[in-house]
Amino acid sequence: MPNCNSSTLPIVLFDMDGTLLDLSFDDFIWNQCLPIRHAQINQCSLQQSRDTLFQFYQQHNHTLCWYSSDYWTAKVGVDVLKLQQEFQHKIQPRPGCFELLKSLNNEGYRCWLVTNADQPSLKLKLENIALRPYFEVLVSSQQLGFAKEDIGFWQTLQDLHPFDPTKVILVDDTAQVLEGAKQFGIEKLITITQPSSLKPARDLATLNYPAIHSLVELFSYLPQSQVKDVDVKTA
Ligand SMILES: [Mg+2]
Repeated sequence: MPNCNSSTLPIVLFDMDGTLLDLSFDDFIWNQCLPIRHAQINQCSLQQSRDTLFQFYQQHNHTLCWYSSDYWTAKVGVDVLKLQQEFQHKIQPRPGCFELLKSLNNEGYRCWLVTNADQPSLKLKLENIALRPYFEVLVSSQQLGFAKEDIGFWQTLQDLHPFDPTKVILVDDTAQVLEGAKQFGIEKLITITQPSSLKPARDLATLNYPAIHSLVELFSYLPQSQVKDVDVKTA
């Protein structure tokens, strides 16, 4: 039975890569595949390729260019979208992803997907992992013209889809994104301990926000729902 008080529940905003989906796919594409392809095309050593790409990454991290497949394709001469398509079988959800989304939908929470993935990458991810049915709104920062790290992203999102920043909760694995959202006025911010299963969990002491591993741990940060109350009483 859906919660009758769904209008009073917070809207839950989710990042995609590193939050709902395992960042291991993106790590694999950008840190393993791309340097190899870039070295082949430019006939340089793998180390030279890594050095060049790492320098590019440093220059563009946290900007809209960073998240644009077209930009990288033009910049490094490798079709990055094609590369992602070639390895799309490696796209995987993070632990607890569907369990959480199903429960939130059943309990009447409104869920929005807010991603820095560009539109072609978002489309590819959604073709592989069936996230779309759980979301009322799906937005790529490319559509809004600002990366999520920029307060302009949140202002533009609010113009398009009005929301009260004090009545939403944002789950995102990137500290700079959480900082931007905080500046905008979003108060409930949650991060992820282990965005990529290829890398170790991050030290909690280095994270400035409450952190979860399995996405179902988010329940402890949400208002207790009527559905859950009923389950407890009849258990
Ligand atoms: Mg992310």
